[in-house]
Amino acid sequence: MADRPISDYQFERFLDEDKLMGARCVGCGALFVPPRAICTKCHRSEMEWVETTGEGHLVAFTCIAIGPPAMIEEGYDRNNPYCSGAVELTEGPRVVARIEGVDTLHPETIKIGMPVKVMFLQQGAGESRKTVLGFTPVDKN
Ligand SMILES: [Zn+2]
Repeated sequence: MADRPISDYQFERFLDEDKLMGARCVGCGALFVPPRAICTKCHRSEMEWVETTGEGHLVAFTCIAIGPPAMIEEGYDRNNPYCSGAVELTEGPRVVARIEGVDTLHPETIKIGMPVKVMFLQQGAGESRKTVLGFTPVDKN
């Protein structure tokens, strides 16, 4: 898997395999999730895939009542908003993802700083089926 090119396409293929992968700069060790082909810190292009722990904490979120068509098809609307958030991974990078398992009708119950872990959401069906990155609170259940 280390041989795969560093690209968003490959990042999504890894999601299909239930892996949250980042690209680490061989030169300076900076980690990018989603991956970047060129390091923004030292501008080298030697990157390698590393699997993250998929753990982190919520740093920002918003509950969305009017989503894009794919979300409306999934049944999200004013009465059933979904949550989009930014998660800071324990490795450092911040990723934007769906936040599942939270009460979007009562956003005051969603806490900044709460620990979350990765989950892999299946969206769409047939040809358009794809895996979408999500996170859910660790303490839930
Ligand atoms: Zn670098």
